[in-house]
Amino acid sequence: MANTFAFAESRGGALRRVAFEAVSAARALADASGGGEVHAMLVGAPGIASLAGELGKYGADMVIVVEHAGLANANVEALAATAAARIKAGGYRAAIFSASAQGRDLAPRVAAQLGVSMAADVTAFELAGDALVVKHPAYAGKVIATLKLTGSPAIVTLRPGARAAVEAVREARVESAQPTSDPGASKLVVKEMIVGGGTKLDIGDAPVIVSGGRGLKSAENFKLVEDLAAAFGNAAVGATRAVTDDGWRPHSDQIGQTGRQVSPELYVALGISGAIQHIAGMRNSRTIVAINKDKEAPIFKVADYGIVGDVIEILPVLTAAVKEARAKG
Ligand SMILES: Cc1cc2nc3c(=O)[nH]c(=O)nc-3n(C[C@H](O)[C@H](O)[C@H](O)COP(=O)(O)OP(=O)(O)OC[C@H]3O[C@@H](n4cnc5c(N)ncnc54)[C@H](O)[C@@H]3O)c2cc1C
Repeated sequence: MANTFAFAESRGGALRRVAFEAVSAARALADASGGGEVHAMLVGAPGIASLAGELGKYGADMVIVVEHAGLANANVEALAATAAARIKAGGYRAAIFSASAQGRDLAPRVAAQLGVSMAADVTAFELAGDALVVKHPAYAGKVIATLKLTGSPAIVTLRPGARAAVEAVREARVESAQPTSDPGASKLVVKEMIVGGGTKLDIGDAPVIVSGGRGLKSAENFKLVEDLAAAFGNAAVGATRAVTDDGWRPHSDQIGQTGRQVSPELYVALGISGAIQHIAGMRNSRTIVAINKDKEAPIFKVADYGIVGDVIEILPVLTAAVKEARAKG
């Protein structure tokens, strides 16, 4: 029986989907170890404590809340020192962060400060005796490395979407804590956080991603992709590197080996060939739908549903069908 730590990421005063995934994964690990507790750390500007109850829904027994005006923009130096001190004091078996941009910045700093082992971007893990055994995809997903982390705490960053957030309702206790170091005295000053895409849903959080490739033919035709995303209501627009390199979409939309790694409930690939570097970023999506005029396109090898045809002709019909289905409820 061992307690597990989870870092619950927030942005702009709201919890991110990866926060629930980290807490859920920590719950599973604690249960597998014979019933330890899950302690989630929630950090942000004053007022962030109001989100603690949401973490209890996903299995947190305790939420450690660190409220400080200087942490509104997630100062990673202060965060790392604070998380490391709490993890050390808590004697945890494992500490789970997300392999999000913030988690990838934070977790290695924490591991270095504690002098413990860490595995990045893992998709699965289990306890095997004294070790934590994790799966880590490499070479664009062609190889799955199995890594054994010995010693406590083992630190992992969990690939977004690799594990679903599962409800395991608890009345989480709340403990207030102070940052270990003064965020104002940090050498690193985060002046502003600008979220790509303005107020639109981030591709890392969206349950549906509608993604376009060179088969869309032009930047203007991405209006058709946006229309489909709007029809779903909970979708974000993604793109291939061919598209972002051509300047049809911003680089923040790029999905793949050198872009974002996503695993939404539904991934709709429109005019995308399915190059290995693109697949590496979306193969973990729960359901994949592809539209391509070439029936031999590699994207169909990973797709659950495929339509062979001209995406420009099919998109308006699909958008109308989605709107109609949603209108019927
Ligand atoms: C080191 C490295 C890293 C890379 N990283 C990434 C990455 O992170 N993400 C990424 O996406 N790529 C990445 N790439 C690029 C990758 O190899 C491909 O070149 C790219 O994914 C292709 O994009 P695409 O599918 O939009 O274009 P294409 O390969 O040109 O495919 C276009 C597809 O559209 C179809 N099509 C054309 N017209 C229509 C139509 N009217 N209706 C329906 N279908 C149509 C075609 O049949 C074709 O299958 C990387 C490459 C390298 C070397």
